[in-house]
Amino acid sequence: MRGGIALLVLTAIVAGCAEGGDPEGSDPAPGQQAGEAAPPVRALHSYAERLRAEQAARVAAARRWGLKKVPLTPPPPPAKKPRITTRDGFEVRDHEELGLPPVFTSVPTRDKVVFLTIDDGAEKDPRFLRMTSELRIPYTAFLTDYLISDDYPYFRKMQAAGVTLNNHTLHHPYLPGLSYQRQKHEICGMQTVLGERYGRRPVLFRPPYGNYNRDTLIAAKSCGVKYAPLWDEEVFVDHWEYREWDRDLHPGDIVLSHFRGRGQWKGTMPDMVRRFLNKVTAQGYAVARLEDYL
Ligand SMILES: [Zn+2]
Repeated sequence: MRGGIALLVLTAIVAGCAEGGDPEGSDPAPGQQAGEAAPPVRALHSYAERLRAEQAARVAAARRWGLKKVPLTPPPPPAKKPRITTRDGFEVRDHEELGLPPVFTSVPTRDKVVFLTIDDGAEKDPRFLRMTSELRIPYTAFLTDYLISDDYPYFRKMQAAGVTLNNHTLHHPYLPGLSYQRQKHEICGMQTVLGERYGRRPVLFRPPYGNYNRDTLIAAKSCGVKYAPLWDEEVFVDHWEYREWDRDLHPGDIVLSHFRGRGQWKGTMPDMVRRFLNKVTAQGYAVARLEDYL
């Protein structure tokens, strides 16, 4: 249904609304009642105008934040979600039989989108919040309690902007070196912190350094984790790193970055986002919301 409306709007935009969106001769959209007044051309018109205004704002924001090109708009979220499975070679024993969270580095899709995920939480730069919301760039946060506990409200603002706050453990340990009980404390303890601080226990968990074993996934599942996304590329303030031999982006790739500032790398969060967006846009990719594909 939403796809249908989007299509209508798109038609109106392509036609530039020059003809007043005259629907003459076209069949009523499904769901319209017979005998009703004329279709809500005015409403459609103003919606199209709003989209146009939003795009104009995005163009202005891209200029303001020093991007080479305006970021591309992602397609609507897929109506039918792709089936997420564990990447070959990343399974633990009885992974599927036990229904453990899938461990994956990309999402199977043909949409020319990538997903931005940002970890840890040390840097709390208000300009980063402004930049991503002005540019309407979605991302997914994986937070570690010991790095965020000096400023929980910063991440509340992030959440208010539509970002989901996910689990990256209490203290960022190397999990495979810990007993099951201690892993469970690290993972499930963070579920509790996030639930209490932000009113929502996440379903996404990322093990620190991407290191996990079977106990990790069993513990994560026991406190409500459904997915364990890793990454295919990592973007820094001054370079990219790749997991794949072709050193390239692919549809559905998950990109990792970190909440870091000048103390940890040679630049700011906005510098990192600029590097990320300049490459992604130049290669024809839009940035989509990971949760929309799960
Ligand atoms: Zn981390």
